[in-house]
Amino acid sequence: MSKLALFGGAPTVTAAPLPWPIVREDDIAEVERTLRRSRDEPANLTSVLPGGVVAEFEAAVSARFGGAYCASTNSGGAALHAALMAVGAGAGDEVIVSPYTWGQSVACVLQQCAVPVFADIDPRTYTLDPASVAAAVSPHTKAIVVPHIYGQPADMAGIGAVAREHGLFVIEDCAQATGAEFGGEPVGTIGHIGCFSIGSGKQIIGGEGGFVLTRDRALFDRLLLATQHPVRGAQQIEDENVRGLLDSFIYTYRIHPLAAAICLRQLEMLDTWNDTRRRQLRRVSAELTGLPGLDPVFEQPDGVHVYHSYSPFYRDEELDGLDRAIYVAALKAEGVPIAASYVGVPLHLTPRFQERRWSFGGGLPWSAARREISYAEGTCPVAEERCARRDLSVYLGPNLYEDNTEYLQQIVAAFHKVTERRDELAGHAVAA
Ligand SMILES: *Cc1c(COP(=O)(O)O)cnc(C)c1O
Repeated sequence: MSKLALFGGAPTVTAAPLPWPIVREDDIAEVERTLRRSRDEPANLTSVLPGGVVAEFEAAVSARFGGAYCASTNSGGAALHAALMAVGAGAGDEVIVSPYTWGQSVACVLQQCAVPVFADIDPRTYTLDPASVAAAVSPHTKAIVVPHIYGQPADMAGIGAVAREHGLFVIEDCAQATGAEFGGEPVGTIGHIGCFSIGSGKQIIGGEGGFVLTRDRALFDRLLLATQHPVRGAQQIEDENVRGLLDSFIYTYRIHPLAAAICLRQLEMLDTWNDTRRRQLRRVSAELTGLPGLDPVFEQPDGVHVYHSYSPFYRDEELDGLDRAIYVAALKAEGVPIAASYVGVPLHLTPRFQERRWSFGGGLPWSAARREISYAEGTCPVAEERCARRDLSVYLGPNLYEDNTEYLQQIVAAFHKVTERRDELAGHAVAA
């Protein structure tokens, strides 16, 4: 076997990833058709008005997700903020969140001037641990935001039980998990509201955009109020009291119709792409099983994982304490698309929380909190250890929409090579 690429050997991975993003002729045709239609039917270019391709997209999403009500948005972040608005989370309310996610799963709480309370994650799924969620509940808790991180479904049974016991809203952050399932149900339709993204790197991509799902008509009215132009809201909101709140003091959260046009056709491919990706990454897991130094990605037993990315568990104790940074540098040199940690710093330990820095000023939202909330190190030990020591983030996800066996075989070979030659890495240092 050749020298490690880190020390000048030939890189193991020579095959290329598939081109990404995918722009199919179907998607281009739908965009062209939509633009042409807008001459007669302006809703195809402006989502101020109801109808057109946006209505078609929402109907298609609803059909795919068991008939849940759907409102499209211009991002996953907008979907999350709208959900917090819809459940009425406000100043002084507490919302339980995960420290191990993209910041917007938590920013949506700050945007409502509510107070994030962090619960810890499960060490195998990296999603919220129901026992830790239960321990974080207080008389001021309003809701739980549940990220299905990396496409892994969270334990919705355990979290749902805690929510029911305390009368809490469950908001699912499905931005990385379109098409994932728990207990035979699509994520995003299990809690009260599901929030999705069709932005970059997600399972289907309209450029930028997102949508919210709910089975609750009263919440749907409030979601329409929070996300759509009042012209549309006036036609579609059923509850008179909610309709009475329509005015122009709104966020511009509605989708661009051309993003809906692109995703309308991509939605037809969602399950095929998810299945293709899952099949290939399960094969990678099988080929990494037993290799010292890592546990392949665990799959929630009662769920369907859709692999937004591939994030195994690093076991330095099986590699004589080999520093993760060196291991990652060696794999990177071999051509593996890897980084030590996607999250990097658990969110409660970021300066935002350590310095309680949010753009409202006046010390908000914490100055409105009804009790002191701690963001100290040690609050979420599993997430902290994962980021500091266990995380490995391999960027294999959206680009596995077709078989790319050679590329994946070479990536697996690179893991084997670096593991076999780990003695050569001992004592080597890499710049941080
Ligand atoms: C991407 C993402 C978001 C935000 O979606 P945007 O469409 O980029 O606003 C929220 N949560 C998670 C977990 C994400 O990965």
